[in-house]
Amino acid sequence: MDQPTVIDHNSKDRSHGKNDGVTSASQYKVLARKYRPTTFAALIGQDVLVRTLTNAITSGRLAHGYMLTGVRGVGKTTTARLIARALNCIGEDGKGGPTPEPCGVCSNCMSIAQDRHQDVLEMDAASRTGIDDIRELLEGVRYRPVSARYKIYIVDEVHMLSDKAFNALLKTLEEPPEHVKFIFATTEIRKVPVTVLSRCQRFDLRRIDNPSLKNLFGNIVKQEKVNVEDAALGLIARAADGSARDGLSILDQAISQSSGMATKQVITELMIRDMLGLADRALLFDLFAAVMSGNSKTALDLVSDQYDAGASPLVIIQDLLELVHWLTRLKVAPDSPIDATLTETDRARGVVMAEKLPMATLTRAWQMLLKGLSETRMAPMPMQAAEMVILRMVYSADFPSPADVIKKLQNDEMPSAGTTSEASSLSQTSNNPPPSGGGSGTPSAQAKTLGVTQPKHVSMPRPTSFSEVVTLFAEHREATLATYLKRSVRLVRFTSGLIEINPGRGSPPDLAGQTGKLLTEWTGQRWLVSVVSEQGEETIYDQELAQAKSDPLVKSILDAFPGAKIEAVKHTESD
Ligand SMILES: [Zn+2]
Repeated sequence: MDQPTVIDHNSKDRSHGKNDGVTSASQYKVLARKYRPTTFAALIGQDVLVRTLTNAITSGRLAHGYMLTGVRGVGKTTTARLIARALNCIGEDGKGGPTPEPCGVCSNCMSIAQDRHQDVLEMDAASRTGIDDIRELLEGVRYRPVSARYKIYIVDEVHMLSDKAFNALLKTLEEPPEHVKFIFATTEIRKVPVTVLSRCQRFDLRRIDNPSLKNLFGNIVKQEKVNVEDAALGLIARAADGSARDGLSILDQAISQSSGMATKQVITELMIRDMLGLADRALLFDLFAAVMSGNSKTALDLVSDQYDAGASPLVIIQDLLELVHWLTRLKVAPDSPIDATLTETDRARGVVMAEKLPMATLTRAWQMLLKGLSETRMAPMPMQAAEMVILRMVYSADFPSPADVIKKLQNDEMPSAGTTSEASSLSQTSNNPPPSGGGSGTPSAQAKTLGVTQPKHVSMPRPTSFSEVVTLFAEHREATLATYLKRSVRLVRFTSGLIEINPGRGSPPDLAGQTGKLLTEWTGQRWLVSVVSEQGEETIYDQELAQAKSDPLVKSILDAFPGAKIEAVKHTESD
């Protein structure tokens, strides 16, 4: 008898099956298909489902319909076929009944496994949504099965059916013949009509966790006799995001790449990184360390290194977010379980970082990255957006936390451009021009009182607010620019060294560039001024009009935290 070539009933396998042809001479079978679980015990991460189903089968309480739901790639179709086998298995001796442990060798088990049992009918509702499709499928529903115990209808992505198709299906579901079972699978359970749901036993397939996936992949590569680094397996598990099928198709790709090489090579972490366009983990730690220590040049260099190495800007920001999240968790619970994708070195480094960084800094980093992620996603040039996010973080790294500022303010130590704590007073607002060329003056003294480290640019002015920038321009007799900055420009964000503005109508096109250039010249520190499309705050001019009523303490806090809003006023005892 001639062996049929593999008939691909599963459209999803087909979409992932671009590797099929790679080594077609040796009939390479994609891993997801080759290692499709053939027993309930082999279904990983679905303990609850397996237990319930086992109970139902052993107690003989078999529902007419089963609804399998879960994200793509968790094994819904595989489970559906397993159920089909469990219901139809007749055992090695041909006398057995429905069993939670289908034998795998009887004629029913075999032909279902090969997708060629005439009583097991499969339909993908994603491509066949109409009433005629469902009618065709259900045509033979009245007739008894040819060779199996039950006629089984498997409808994948059932939520895609049209209303009419659902109604046609419902008629059969309401009064199903004894010999018929339905197994539905869906990624979007909410779109399935309640009338259908209520007639089915529902099973929620859980996303498979990383350690289980990594373990699964590890076992498979062992059987395939392929050498894969442990860290590489971890990366694949992470990228698979809960889906065994997705992970296995990545593995397929890696294997076909490595077998294409002259000598059979070990599949390394680096290979997988390259393949997936992932940022290098060690570089990521370096990047975050540079950002947190306020080192803008190193940070930007590291970003472009990763970019050159193939990491997308979005992935870089995402990875940083993940890192910050992990560090924050580590800070709260140092014993939290080890992420399967982390090496020991990474972990040790993370522990030190988490210890050093205050919680306030971590949460601020998280917020900035989260905002930056959506900016990067929407930006016409994502790399530029990602760089801006990084710079914004770099320049806020030497910012005191809100709690620190308030404490200092209450101790009469204003973080304005004053000299020493004795000399500075609350009445001194940042509208005062920064003392230029004032010897032992501003930045280092300020840094000392705030307990933060700042680069030393003694004897150079260092504007700490946008209004100080405007003053600086006036002082340098750049009257035209000063006027634009004051009357037209709306400030979006200000951090030392980085200003984001909405230039307003009528401003000269090179306003931002000129401003940045002159500031850099005058302060001896690199200033970047960039144009963003956000609305920004009122112009300095408009603000000054409304400023009369402002309280000096409140105002200085607002200056220290551009974009901050007063939400509540409480009076506390000062110490
Ligand atoms: Zn069997």
